[in-house]
Amino acid sequence: MCGSTANQVVAGRQAVDRTASELFMKEQRANEYPIPKTMKAWVLGKPEELMLTEKPVPEPDAAEVLVRIDAIAVCATDIEILKHGLPAIVDGEPPFDRNFTPGHEYMGTIVRLGPTVDEFEVGDRIAVEVHAGCGRCQRCREGMYTSCLNYGYRSKGHRANGFTTDGGFAEYAINNINTMVHVPDDMTDEEATLIVTSGTAMYGLDVMGGIIAGEGVVVTGPGPIGLMGVGVAKALGAQPVILTGTRQHRLEIGRRLGADEVVNVSREDPVAAVERITRGNGVQYVLECSGAPNALNEAARMVNRGGRICLAAFPAEPVPVDLAYLVRNNIYVFGIRGEGKSATHRAAALMAQKRFDAKLIHTHTFPLAEVPTAIKYARERIEDAIKVVVKIRDNEAHHSM
Ligand SMILES: [Zn+2]
Ligand SMILES: [Zn+2]
Repeated sequence: MCGSTANQVVAGRQAVDRTASELFMKEQRANEYPIPKTMKAWVLGKPEELMLTEKPVPEPDAAEVLVRIDAIAVCATDIEILKHGLPAIVDGEPPFDRNFTPGHEYMGTIVRLGPTVDEFEVGDRIAVEVHAGCGRCQRCREGMYTSCLNYGYRSKGHRANGFTTDGGFAEYAINNINTMVHVPDDMTDEEATLIVTSGTAMYGLDVMGGIIAGEGVVVTGPGPIGLMGVGVAKALGAQPVILTGTRQHRLEIGRRLGADEVVNVSREDPVAAVERITRGNGVQYVLECSGAPNALNEAARMVNRGGRICLAAFPAEPVPVDLAYLVRNNIYVFGIRGEGKSATHRAAALMAQKRFDAKLIHTHTFPLAEVPTAIKYARERIEDAIKVVVKIRDNEAHHSM
């Protein structure tokens, strides 16, 4: 009796000691990341004009953290924003000449916590997804926060970094806690920037029903999302996974990411190829990532009756579609925006388990001072660039706690 009380006292003291040492560790960690008053940030001037400036380092609010950005990938959408403004909108206006920092596919290290944040710690390595929904509209409540009905309204809590709020071509950014996933220690910064791309592919497979194992999946278009789509579909057990495209080099990367068959559409008609590979049965799902004008009509002829098509890309102009064929064959067509329903978390889990080698699509790296060159490489596909990464920090500050 007496002994057990003594043990309890000792245990109690140990708990107090542990809490004190945890607090001490937290302070130590916070001290490891001195935060300057200002930071380097690229901002959008006129269309096609990017300028490197100094901005104040922002302060995290409740449910937010300050992220020191370590690396960021260039996305085709960044190039769209530079040229046309849309889909970026800042306070309801085009994003030009508003001191707006683009860039959305980044990863980094948490260096400061906003009030109430206990979901993450200072020193955590994280990758981001783009959209922090408002959390109060119908779509957000359904998990479709990339389709938030309060899109662009900061006062209602919505953020989409690199689209409506400042993004990642800078040294620091603010992130809502709902927009981050942990990055494992053995994943490089460069690979971690690809988590959000895989998340988009995952979301496409999710909206089509998500029952992938044993089903045929065609991915059309070997861009970053298409190639990650191959990796995710294969990791989820799809059979066969067929990738179509025109660039043989990219198709070969697709094979290494898990495609069972690749079809070079400049050599073989893709619909006939899918028929040949599936012995006339067709597939259950098509993930359309090419944006080719006839892609939907072709996809409709690749799926079997009742099959499902997800459009993750689109042509620049309106295109004719054989609607009668879709209706007669009970074919479902979905469009997705971004990476809703926590798809990024599922994609990150597959990457952490090394279920596919996302690194294969990373081709070039530039420092922060050379963002315009990085964008030029991605835009003009110089040296067959697929994913171009801007590396803002070296790995020497790498944390393994
Ligand atoms: Zn993107
Ligand atoms: Zn919302």
